[in-house]
Amino acid sequence: MAGGMRGRLILKAGVILIALFILTVVLVGLFFRNSVLESSKRNAMTIAKLVRDTLTSYMVLGVIDKRDLFLQQIRETSNLEYIRVVRGEAVKRQYGEGKSYEQPIDHLEREVLRTGKIKDLLIENQNRVVYKLVVPYKAESSGRINCLQCHKVKEGEVLGAVSLAVDLTRERQQAFLLLTIYTLSAGGIFTLLFIVVIRHFEPYRQLFNRIKEILENFREGDFRHRVEADLKDEAGELAHVVNRVGEELDTILSNIREKVSLLIGYKVLETENALKDTEKMVEELVKISNFKRTIEQDLSKQDIYDRIVTILADYMSLDKFSLYEVDENRNRMRVVDVHGEKMWCSDLILENADECRAKRTGNDVDSAEFPCICPRFAFNDLCSTQGIQYYCIPVNIGGKVGNVVQIVYEKDMDMFIRMIIPYIKGYLVEAAPVIESKSLMEILKEQSYIDQLTGLYNRRFLDEIIDKVAAQIKRRGSTLGILMIDIDYFKQVNDKYGHDVGDRVLREIANVIRSKVREADYVIRFGGEEIMVLLMDVKKGASVKVAEKIREAVANKTIEVSGGVIKKTVSIGVSEFPDDCDGRVWQCIKFADVALYKAKEMGRNRVVRFTPDMWSGEEY
Ligand code: GH3
Ligand code: MG
Ligand code: MG
Repeated sequence: MAGGMRGRLILKAGVILIALFILTVVLVGLFFRNSVLESSKRNAMTIAKLVRDTLTSYMVLGVIDKRDLFLQQIRETSNLEYIRVVRGEAVKRQYGEGKSYEQPIDHLEREVLRTGKIKDLLIENQNRVVYKLVVPYKAESSGRINCLQCHKVKEGEVLGAVSLAVDLTRERQQAFLLLTIYTLSAGGIFTLLFIVVIRHFEPYRQLFNRIKEILENFREGDFRHRVEADLKDEAGELAHVVNRVGEELDTILSNIREKVSLLIGYKVLETENALKDTEKMVEELVKISNFKRTIEQDLSKQDIYDRIVTILADYMSLDKFSLYEVDENRNRMRVVDVHGEKMWCSDLILENADECRAKRTGNDVDSAEFPCICPRFAFNDLCSTQGIQYYCIPVNIGGKVGNVVQIVYEKDMDMFIRMIIPYIKGYLVEAAPVIESKSLMEILKEQSYIDQLTGLYNRRFLDEIIDKVAAQIKRRGSTLGILMIDIDYFKQVNDKYGHDVGDRVLREIANVIRSKVREADYVIRFGGEEIMVLLMDVKKGASVKVAEKIREAVANKTIEVSGGVIKKTVSIGVSEFPDDCDGRVWQCIKFADVALYKAKEMGRNRVVRFTPDMWSGEEY
């Protein structure tokens, strides 16, 4: 492209200058030729007329016999090829042939004698240039001399002619010489002009090309280059303007990127293209602020986790990763989600969160930096032999590691993973405070479901979950065991030891009950000293056994108080949902209560399974 412009300039300037050169040479050539010819013709004409008039005077003076001498002199002084006088027909008739017969008259002379008009002819060939001129004598009666006195002719008849030829060969040679000198010097001048023009435009051409290059760079988002502004004219100013635009764009864009990266909390991978980088960062900002707005409106922590999983799986196209939650109180890890395997880490981390290196150190764990660094990664053999890598990111929730995101990938994805990790961190940074506030809310909510005295769930909790639990049980086609437990003769404790001891006994018995059921079961303080247990997914008919275990454990429990040892028993009524109550859960609860009263009736410290005969009333 650069060569193209220079080439075109040279071609155009060259063609114009050569055309001008040829034109001037032709014009100068024509001018030389014309001026030489014109002056020669004028000379010849002057000589011819002079000869005619002089010979006329000779005639009148009667010294016409001297004419040869005269013509001889004229010929010599005027550089004439020849000069002669030819007689017309009338003169020949009157005075005879004269001397003109010596040379037969030529075509031109004959024409003049016939027409009486001046004729001339230029004969040009390679060797010579000859100019011939023939001027007629005409018979005149007026004027100084009356021709008709001597000649027997009519007025205006042609008497004869002066015929001469001038050799212009030398003039032509001189003209050629001059023209050659002119051509050479003009050629030199034009060449010089050509060089000057090209030289003059060269820095402009270079500047133009450089500006084009720089603008091309701008278009590709590279604002680091500048134009060398050596020229002092408008072109130099243009270079300055281009440079200023570059500098300003560079500053503005890097300011935008700086500020956006402050906002989103990380820097995206920078390329050479500042425009694309800025666009990408702003896009990222928009996405992240959308993400934040969305998760803020999410109801639960689980919704946020689901969203993070969606981002990892769909938006980042990851197929192997885990999301863990740290249970701060029990120092355990909980699996929120795993992709690609059942579990990428050893179960040990579930029992003791500090087994997880990312949780313990609070730093990223990068198996590419330190090969197969974490002993709790369950596939370290694949890590060392088949290039399976992992990158674990601890998520800071309220000053502690609250979650861990683990990304597992094949070695050849290393570049991609390294590119997306800042983005993933960006999302996690945004999610962290929202997860924290949702956690706090969940704790708060949970606390409103907890009975302060015993630490068991309260009635409100029962109301909240019972329909969901019933639906789950029905969906799974399993059984819910309902135990209604009441402490026997509890009033006596209060009466004998006081209310505080009563409270303690209640708490202790609650703990015994809780220790005898599974984690997934619900232990609820139903009211007063009545405790309800929901046995999730119990084997049909097995609820009674669990109740029996509880009864036995309570009966064996001794509670030391100041002033003695307390031993209490409980009575337990048992029903099973959905079988006992046709799938109406509240009715099953009622039936457990009915069975409890049966147990009391039968003498307490016992378990009674509801049977339909115990219930004669209308439907609950
Ligand atoms: P039984 O159930 O065997 O018929 O006899 P009981 O003495 O336990 O009688 P009942 O269940 O009717 O009485 C419940 C008593 O439990 C009444 C109340 O004083 C006592 N109680 C209920 N809630 C609490 C509590 O939160 N703290 C204490 N200290 N006592 C409570
Ligand atoms: Mg009681
Ligand atoms: Mg009671």
